[in-house]
Amino acid sequence: MPQFVAFILIGGVGNNRLVHNPEIPSSCLKVASARVTPAHGCVNSVVTTGNMRILIVEDEPDLLRSLAQALREEGYAVDTAADGEDGLFKAESYDYDAVVLDVMLPNIDGWEILSRLRKTKKTPVLMLTARDQSRDRVKGLDTGADDYVVKPFDLSELFARLRALIRRSANKTTNGIKIGDVKIDTAARNVWLKDKTVELTAREYSLVEFLALHRGEVVTRTQLYEHLFDENDSTLSNLLDVHVSNVRKKLGAEFISTRRGHGYCIK
Ligand code: CA
Repeated sequence: MPQFVAFILIGGVGNNRLVHNPEIPSSCLKVASARVTPAHGCVNSVVTTGNMRILIVEDEPDLLRSLAQALREEGYAVDTAADGEDGLFKAESYDYDAVVLDVMLPNIDGWEILSRLRKTKKTPVLMLTARDQSRDRVKGLDTGADDYVVKPFDLSELFARLRALIRRSANKTTNGIKIGDVKIDTAARNVWLKDKTVELTAREYSLVEFLALHRGEVVTRTQLYEHLFDENDSTLSNLLDVHVSNVRKKLGAEFISTRRGHGYCIK
């Protein structure tokens, strides 16, 4: 029998909100979020359809910071690299759900990173190209980029392209997951319990979605940490048990099972 951890009475703080950053024009602030859709019948699969860890490789500090913040506000775990060498190292070392890759970079440029990465990994890559570089776009797609946006870009466009790219890479076409009385719309990031909307924080939603996408599998704590929290996250938000406990309070104690010593599971 699965065992359930005791509730911890700490309320989550909602952070699934629009981005407010003085460095980003207000026209860029209309952001939305969606995720990939359920994976069924893959009990022993390695976690590859998760959608929450993104690498940004960008040498313009303001843009890098703004992008990272905006994606974190959306609930993604975000790693950053400010030059080509670090970017290539990270892209090759970790299984990101997507990489946002600038073309013009110190040390190793975006094309070189892309072609070297493609020798070992199929990680979805969204290129950031400069305006009036249409030849670059063709080159990028030839080299194995999955999509591109032209600088300066609107955040909402970048987010939409990232979502589409992640969804394509997971080969999924629908956005709904139903687990007992719980329904999840991964495009709108809404969750319902018995047809009543449930308010989840961004982290709680990410946890629910990740487990739901791996329904029937035991997901280890390490896998959850890797997908929910980025390399710089050492705050109180890094308390997995608290998020699990909060989700159980909102969606029912049985919704997430604990496999003691192994991890968590949604049946
Ligand atoms: Ca650049």
